[in-house]
Amino acid sequence: MIKAIVGANWGDEGKGKITDYLATHADIVVRFQGGNNAGHTIINEYGKSALHLLPSGIFNPNTLNVIGNGVALNIPSLLEELESIKAKGVENVKLVVSDRAQIVMPYHILFDELEEKRLEKAQFGSTKSGMAPFYSDKYAKIGFQVNELFDEKWLEEKIDRILPAKNTLLVHLYHAEPLSKENLLNTLHEYRDAIAPYVCDTVKLFKDAVIENKEILLEGQLGTLRDPDFGIYPYSTSSNTISSYGPIGSGLAKGCDNVVAVTKAYSSCVGAGPFVSEFFDQDAHELRIRGGDAGEFGAKTGRPRRVGAFDCVATRYGVQIQSATEVVMTNLDVLGYLDEIPVCVAYKHNGEIIYDFCNTQQLYECTPVIETLPGWKCDIRDITDYHDLPKEAKNYVDFIEKHIGVTISMVSNGPKRNQIMKRK
Ligand code: GDP
Repeated sequence: MIKAIVGANWGDEGKGKITDYLATHADIVVRFQGGNNAGHTIINEYGKSALHLLPSGIFNPNTLNVIGNGVALNIPSLLEELESIKAKGVENVKLVVSDRAQIVMPYHILFDELEEKRLEKAQFGSTKSGMAPFYSDKYAKIGFQVNELFDEKWLEEKIDRILPAKNTLLVHLYHAEPLSKENLLNTLHEYRDAIAPYVCDTVKLFKDAVIENKEILLEGQLGTLRDPDFGIYPYSTSSNTISSYGPIGSGLAKGCDNVVAVTKAYSSCVGAGPFVSEFFDQDAHELRIRGGDAGEFGAKTGRPRRVGAFDCVATRYGVQIQSATEVVMTNLDVLGYLDEIPVCVAYKHNGEIIYDFCNTQQLYECTPVIETLPGWKCDIRDITDYHDLPKEAKNYVDFIEKHIGVTISMVSNGPKRNQIMKRK
């Protein structure tokens, strides 16, 4: 059974919590794209953890965690995260890294920083984790796969080929210091020694796991609207965030049986780009301080997240592109302070009402069409049975389900693992 857990929106939907919850029954949890550029916040018996690269099954001693070939592998960052998890008392951590995963080089991070600086006001709002330079090099075929670390001659020849081009850019475009071959080789040797115990032929691992009918969870990072093909390009990320990329980035020769798309009960979005249902000023401030487990601030950067009304247009598109078989709604508890809850049900574009998501330039020209639903005005975090929710809260979930067209199977009413209710 292969199940993907992916974001329906701009990321930060609460996928980490849902993966941690579902991982208690999973044999394998795999990260299939992205790097340490975003974070999942998980609150369980080990306290609060922000995971950036580690799969969210890492807390479960029976779950094997896999870093798939589609991931941007920052080796020092992975090891640091592993140490911090062990320091919390997590024992018997089971982790393997694909021998085909590519390595985030120190110069990827450097180029990311230098380019954002060069762009000044036109910058993309990169987290400066090296993602764009990393994925550019992967597709330009000048990246380093993990297995290449173990062939010294190959490694040296490759560095000799790559360095002149990198140094030309560094010196002449960015007016920075050139890289030295010796330093780079030393770093790669350190990486090789550190990652060696985790390296695995994950294609073979998944071939066997599928034959044995193992329960496999594919854990997405960010969400549909950050996908480089289907999202708000160029305010997107550099790897595909959609479930159909999951098997590719994992090393699975089989598609997903089930796709769980996670969405928040309102919208949140970090960084630049069009955001049609955005709140401003006091409305935004009120929601931001109440959202998530400790306000809507990025797990990676601490940046305040932009927040707004639930966007039916973006989410319907989001779940469709994810080919979601079910939806989990998180953060329903957060809306308990509102007398009335605005929901964006359509966009107005050039005087016309539209129901379909559109391209980035058109999105900038859209304004939200808002419908208002009655609030429930109470704290719902202690409720454990969906049927015990106030009728206004159930009505809100029904309304959204009707608009997005996919069953909302579970509703999360707090950041803790047990604050979740099955609906259908
Ligand atoms: P992810 O990257 O999709 O895993 O999302 P993040 O972890 O970046 O952001 C989701 C935020 O919502 C985190 O602060 C979670 O602890 C929090 N969270 C998840 N589910 C709920 C919920 O149902 N209610 C509340 N209040 N917070 C939640």
